[in-house]
Amino acid sequence: MLVLAAARLGFDCCVLAPESDSPAMRVASSQIVAAYDDDAALAAFARQCDVATFEFENVPAQTILHLQEQALVVAPGPRALAVAQDRVSEKTFFAGRGIGCAPFAAIDSATDILDALDRLGSPAILKTRREGYDGKGQTVVTSAQDAHDAFDRIGRLPAILEGKAAFVRELSVIIARGWSGEIAAYPPGWNQHEAGILRRTVTPAPSSPDTLARAVEIARSLVEGLDYVGVMGVELFEMADGALWVNEIAPRVHNTGHWTLDACEVDQFEQHIRAIAGWPLGPTQPFAAAEMINLLGADADQWAKLAGDPGARLWLYGKSGAAPGRKMGHVNRLTGPFPS
Ligand code: ADP
Ligand code: MG
Repeated sequence: MLVLAAARLGFDCCVLAPESDSPAMRVASSQIVAAYDDDAALAAFARQCDVATFEFENVPAQTILHLQEQALVVAPGPRALAVAQDRVSEKTFFAGRGIGCAPFAAIDSATDILDALDRLGSPAILKTRREGYDGKGQTVVTSAQDAHDAFDRIGRLPAILEGKAAFVRELSVIIARGWSGEIAAYPPGWNQHEAGILRRTVTPAPSSPDTLARAVEIARSLVEGLDYVGVMGVELFEMADGALWVNEIAPRVHNTGHWTLDACEVDQFEQHIRAIAGWPLGPTQPFAAAEMINLLGADADQWAKLAGDPGARLWLYGKSGAAPGRKMGHVNRLTGPFPS
């Protein structure tokens, strides 16, 4: 979707990925199939590009540094990537900006879990520090007796233990920042997850105007604090007392921003291309309220029915295999005027 947006603005894209069946490669003008640490491939990539970006946050930060050494402009930069890749550095960064988040502790052993449970209370959520997505690498810890099993369940990897947030709602802000410091944020969405996987995003989110404004301010503080360039997704928990806790940041275009494809003049993908290319950012006021539903696994088999529904805008990613829970596409529906 980034490549499609870039092409529409007149750019050529080269896609580098380890998989030869990467959906982005089908629509790019050139492709390099290589590991992220293949120096010769990175050099060939750098020679044909003016600016590089990524839409997968587990690209090693070292890869980004390596591209920068070849005088290639990369956005977002390695610092934002490194912070977002490690749940402990991420939460430490939030706390350092005075932004609320779930209470947490770094975990390196099952004994650490016992100590941390005392402080955080139970239930708590144990997550691997790195490489988790769609709820993978996470498990709920309910008691001290469960600590050893829980550590086994996540593969005994370096981890974080977080107090379980009793949120009333999950929100996200899709925000862009350009090289000049210009900022543009879309109105926050309301996100519903099932088993840790995003199922549905609704805009506008049914929170108070004050809460929504504070969510955008938090997102602004985060992109400014990271000197960020590009689109970032900021996931938040809205608590019963109105407090907002940041859950995590994604240094890339974000699934909870896919509704912008059909409800905004400039969607998050074009916005990201504009930001990294040094263009002016586009308008973010939606022209319609919207609902986005993810097609997970076999849901995508409903494509014919959805394609026949005049109210449904169908997006299929062209991924090669439909495993249970895998994001295969999504459907956007416009649900009415967007309140001003
Ligand atoms: P991922 O990288 O898999 O998206 P998240 O940390 O966002 O990981 O967790 C996925 C979902 O699990 C969240 O959107 C939320 O629904 C739930 N969750 C995660 N952390 C907590 C927490 N500390 N308290 C309550 N729910 C949580
Ligand atoms: Mg998440």
